Amino acid sequence: MFFNTNLYVCPYCYEKTSNYVSCERCANQLKNLVNVKSGSTKDCYSFTAPFIYKDIVRDAILTFKFEKKIEYCKSFCYFIKACNTYLADILVYVPNNDGKFNSSKEIAKILKRKLKIKLQNNAITKVKKTKCQHNCNFKERYINLNGAFIANEKKVRGKTILICDDIITTASTMQEMASALKKSGALKVFGIAFAISENSKNYNLIKS
Ligand SMILES: [Zn+2]
Repeated sequence: MFFNTNLYVCPYCYEKTSNYVSCERCANQLKNLVNVKSGSTKDCYSFTAPFIYKDIVRDAILTFKFEKKIEYCKSFCYFIKACNTYLADILVYVPNNDGKFNSSKEIAKILKRKLKIKLQNNAITKVKKTKCQHNCNFKERYINLNGAFIANEKKVRGKTILICDDIITTASTMQEMASALKKSGALKVFGIAFAISENSKNYNLIKS
């Protein structure tokens, strides 16, 4: 009798593998992409991610987003859980208002189970139509998102909140969401993502 143990597809090389996290070869490559930094913004007390947004991590995120490979979230969240040190009352995702695939929401749906935390739907809404962040520089990203979110006071007042996303680039999304959450009475806001931009000099800009 033949048993096929390669039931999963490795999100980082698309080869069949025996576990959902990654194949052995990619596990070794991922070790070189581990992120050791955390950052903060005016309203986001601290944010971090397990990996640098580069190489196989970048490829996996792009495939996840553009081919809607929601099964990759299990691997992403395995690593997010391992690097998360934040204790929060509720988990929220980055809302979109166009009804399109929401990568942050897909991650949140798996992450809530891993972290055993309540996923608070409709805690925050996107009220402003924004340009695609892809084509913006650092300053433009902040201007673009200014006032883009409104939080629901009933759901966030007095709470410590963890925002999850797929990538942190300039942390402008984390800042704007944290700002809206705090305006509605949130106590403290943390941010976590699967990957973070290598360009850490941005963090200092945010703080000043
Ligand atoms: Zn692999």
